[in-house]
Amino acid sequence: MQSVLIIGAGGVSRVVTHKCAQVRDTFKDITLASRTISKCEQIKNEIIAKGLGDINIHSIDADDIPALVTLIKRVKPNIVINVALPYQDLTIMEACLQTGVNYLDTANYEHPDTAKFEYKEQWAYHKRFQQAGIMGLLGSGFDPGVTNVFCAYAQQNLFDTIHYIDILDCNAGDHGYPFATNFNPEINIREITAKGRYWEKGKWIETDPLSVSIDHDYPEIGIRKSYLMYHEEMESLCQNIPDLKRIRFFMTFGESYLTHLQVLQNVGMTRIDEVEHNGCKIVPLQFLKTLLPDPASLGPRTKGKTNIGCVITGIKDAKPRKTYIYNVCDHESCWAEVNSQAISYTTGVPAMIGALLILSGDWKQEGGIFNMEQLSANPFMNALNQHGLPWNILELPVE
Ligand code: NDP
Repeated sequence: MQSVLIIGAGGVSRVVTHKCAQVRDTFKDITLASRTISKCEQIKNEIIAKGLGDINIHSIDADDIPALVTLIKRVKPNIVINVALPYQDLTIMEACLQTGVNYLDTANYEHPDTAKFEYKEQWAYHKRFQQAGIMGLLGSGFDPGVTNVFCAYAQQNLFDTIHYIDILDCNAGDHGYPFATNFNPEINIREITAKGRYWEKGKWIETDPLSVSIDHDYPEIGIRKSYLMYHEEMESLCQNIPDLKRIRFFMTFGESYLTHLQVLQNVGMTRIDEVEHNGCKIVPLQFLKTLLPDPASLGPRTKGKTNIGCVITGIKDAKPRKTYIYNVCDHESCWAEVNSQAISYTTGVPAMIGALLILSGDWKQEGGIFNMEQLSANPFMNALNQHGLPWNILELPVE
């Protein structure tokens, strides 16, 4: 009997839990644990109402390793899916190591006091996971996640050599609010206000936040201004795609979003250090999160589509080739299926698929820490088509 423990009960978790409950052949026993038990209860009730069976729920502080170890020993899962926040990655990995259970997440570790994310501390677990014979799958969301798999699929099936990768992420959804974020506001704003960075000829090149943009034509959406940003999948892809010359990441933002963000930054509301306010200490960005709409509440209001994909240029059979692999996802269809908008959906479905492939044996390795592109892309690509994120391939003219 395969059992899964899902940690965190936010927007992405709602999708992971629904999707696991849709695949009961593999996920027979589902436990959802988060800091706030009422959030687990709400997801449990939604799953029961959709006729997807029952799930177990617990409260847990995932910053507390002994409490996590006790919970894991009690639940005895085959895998832990971490969809809490990036701050909890290391404590949950440590608890998995101590209990000998496979681990999966969707975002790489970030320290609450420093808006900088990198894989170093998670990759450092490789040997210990190997010795324990357990697998740690990092970044099994959409970006990182599916974008890594798109690159691996291109490497394994479409190209002899890949030279250039541009990852392009467009959310053309409209939720009707002047300013809201589609996933955890604190994580989202930390990411967007950070300096941009891309990798070229073995070096990282830094750019001022949102200072570089291109116009890109997104299938089923149209031309959108897209801003160069740093994004974590580039850190592993530049190491795992041989002969790569350059990798960049671009994301679209609406005018209203950018104007609000600029004002919030100018007045200090995106600061992540503590400030004194009426005799108590507050972190402005955390206070802003309290004021902003909960991303989970955007689902029923959001209309429109997302398009996330990779434009890959290289050589096939001694000829230049340029290929665009992408997925289009519709916010309203996601809401109808799992009570969620497309950003959480496009993250939660790949998290379920990563766990499915580990438990089914298709992706199970002897042990160690893995990024998505290090594994065989085809089973994952097939599963995307089966579980709600179908993809397309366009051949583009080579300039
Ligand atoms: P939410 O803020 O909606 O949910 C996070 C959940 O984690 C909340 O239920 C929260 O519970 C819980 N949580 C926070 N701290 C703890 C803790 N110490 N112990 C237990 N539970 C805790 O975030 P999202 O669902 O939007 O995002 C989840 C993850 O997915 C994030 O890591 C995010 O970076 C990642 N992500 C990845 C993407 C990708 O494509 N790879 C895209 C989008 C998101 P409570 O409310 O009770 O505090």
